[in-house]
Amino acid sequence: MRMPKGEWKVGTKDDYYVRTSAWSAPGCHPVGCGLILHIEDGKLTGVEGDKDHPLTQGRLCPRCLALPEVVNHPDRILYPMKRARKDRGKNTWERITWDEALDLIVEKVEETRERYGYEGVHTFGGTGREATFYYPVLSYSVFQSPNVSTVISGDSCYGPRCMITNFILGTGYPEIDHAAYFPDRYDDPRFVLPEYVMVWGKNPIVSNPDGFFGHALIDMMKRGTKLITVDPRITWLASRAEITLQLRPGTDTALLMAMLNVVINEGLYDKEFVEKWCYGLEDLKERVQDMPPAKAAAITWVPEEKIIRAARVFAQAKSASIQWGLATEMSQNAVQTCQCILYLCALTGRIDAPGGISVGPKASLTGKWRYEQIKWVNPELIDKRIGNEEYPVSKSALTNCLADTVLDALEEEDLKIGMVWINSSNVWSCPGAVPERWLAALSRVEFIVAQDIFLTPANMSVADLVLPVSTFAEHDGLVLPHFGRNAPYLGAINKAVEVGEARSDFETVMALGKRLNPDAFPWETVEEFLDYSVYGNGFSFDDLRKMGQFQPDYSYYKYESGKLREDGEVGFDTVTGLFELRSLQFEAWGEDPLPYYQEPTFSPYATPDLAQDYPLVLTTGGRKYTSFHSEHRQVPTLREIDPWPIVQIHPDTAAKNGISDGDWVCIENQYGSCRQKAKLTYAVDPRVVHAEHAWWYPEQDMELPNQGGAFKSQINNLMPHFMTGKLYIGSPYKCLICRVTKVSGLDD
Ligand code: SF4
Repeated sequence: MRMPKGEWKVGTKDDYYVRTSAWSAPGCHPVGCGLILHIEDGKLTGVEGDKDHPLTQGRLCPRCLALPEVVNHPDRILYPMKRARKDRGKNTWERITWDEALDLIVEKVEETRERYGYEGVHTFGGTGREATFYYPVLSYSVFQSPNVSTVISGDSCYGPRCMITNFILGTGYPEIDHAAYFPDRYDDPRFVLPEYVMVWGKNPIVSNPDGFFGHALIDMMKRGTKLITVDPRITWLASRAEITLQLRPGTDTALLMAMLNVVINEGLYDKEFVEKWCYGLEDLKERVQDMPPAKAAAITWVPEEKIIRAARVFAQAKSASIQWGLATEMSQNAVQTCQCILYLCALTGRIDAPGGISVGPKASLTGKWRYEQIKWVNPELIDKRIGNEEYPVSKSALTNCLADTVLDALEEEDLKIGMVWINSSNVWSCPGAVPERWLAALSRVEFIVAQDIFLTPANMSVADLVLPVSTFAEHDGLVLPHFGRNAPYLGAINKAVEVGEARSDFETVMALGKRLNPDAFPWETVEEFLDYSVYGNGFSFDDLRKMGQFQPDYSYYKYESGKLREDGEVGFDTVTGLFELRSLQFEAWGEDPLPYYQEPTFSPYATPDLAQDYPLVLTTGGRKYTSFHSEHRQVPTLREIDPWPIVQIHPDTAAKNGISDGDWVCIENQYGSCRQKAKLTYAVDPRVVHAEHAWWYPEQDMELPNQGGAFKSQINNLMPHFMTGKLYIGSPYKCLICRVTKVSGLDD
């Protein structure tokens, strides 16, 4: 089905087609893929890719193809429901109206403020989903509280990449140049095909990360781009790469420092760029002498000659870029890994170069509204933000609380958090390290509201009130890749159907905002707000619907034309005005301004005694096509494809432990254990296992204590909870140790 130009909805009153851009719920990153929704008799019955979408061009993942199964699922939360606090964990929900729900929330907010102050309300947000755009607004504009966070230890998801980019070169998120800004894409004469893309700790065709539709990589491979992959696993992409660097999990910084060593010592860097636009080369040169390739080979398990070859190939390519993923952040060395990746791009002249990495200006296509909402929080309260006193860096470096400090605050004897809002976060079945502690800690809070599309272990076990969230098929909205930090387009989300009384994240925020802080919400309708958001581009929301997507103009080498700095001066928006190979911002915070390698806290080398008991390196969380973190477990077609959690084990390791393909195994370390099914594969090193994350079983008893088997396969049972590095960013989700033994089943 092709939509007629200028139309977003065609058909009759009950049977029609709607063109839209995907976001969530259900979960996905803000890629904004193009969909045509089929509605028959007022019900969503089918989905197909929109061939006219400039980026996705008709392609979709199974998650979007299964959208009708989500939208029409019998277990959805369809209206607000409450229960008595004493009944937490029991299925004793009582349906109430939206007005009753909002009245109850206002009453509880006022009680909390009276007892604990405005900062007594804490908001948690889940990853990637549309909620990510609006939960900080809920905290700042509606509750006027500075306390807002995720639950991810070390804030180790996407934030560090953005933050470190901001400190070192002062721009929005750096994405590989895939001609996304150009309507005629790869045929645009300004674009240069990357000769090499280094895919670092990422599996983009499966995960479709925040602002990137992974199949663009395939498009470019078909045109001749070659890959270098850096991953503990041989992924589908790695099996097609020219060079595969199969490193020990958590040692990325050592590998990068050795590559920088080769590039600098062999004089392979872009001298013109470095001389004119970089600060601190001599310091960096001295530092990387600490990491010759032979030393890095011993640390990373990547052969020395492969490290040297990869560095030379990348530096000498006519055009090249690096795609860096979540794995770069989920180690204790996260800050330095991100720092080194940017350094490798800068030294080789790839910053904002055609076929290199594109860097976005800070301006967003939806204006500054979202970033300005902190103005509704009393400045004195910012000092009282959880964690700010003990970790002063977090005050100036972050706009939210460090999740680890929030867990500590929830466990304090003198609890000062009276109300919690959980927006689309399945806290202990998904990202939370030490999951049982999160359950115990949140159980202490007096009043908890949760917003979601399904009952999850989190909202079933601790919420007193649940609010239904609409899917993106059920509301109007906007989608911006990379949350606007490097957005090649702005897409319209168009409402196609209505299901129950579900509301979008923004509808709920605005309804509550009008009661608690009406000055912050001057709009009468959602459409008025959407008009306001897109107005700066010279069109209305209705215009955008008709266009489908808006692609802004783009130019390369923006640091030469003053487009990266608010003051319009040439250069980068940093302390020195240059790209900082020695970070003055890091130095000001007491962090080493230069990169350094830190061995994972638990490893065969750091803790050899422990490694006697737990001899395998454990890495976790590789993505699947059939789920978005803990979501989609109840979607029949997707669950049929991936019915159980899988731990990948090398056949030699399995044989040594008496494990056969398909056996249930116990994965265990000094912190805890869980059960998953063994998949024997040569894709992992014999010394490493890879386990899936975010598994629970919605088909099981959802009441406490079972709560959908929340802890049975939860790999984060093996995760510690501690702050790492001097900026407290990063965590060991990807680099733990464990042993694996055969068991008879999930409940053995
Ligand atoms: S990346 Fe895949 S799941 Fe996500 S919106 Fe696009 S098609 Fe849907």
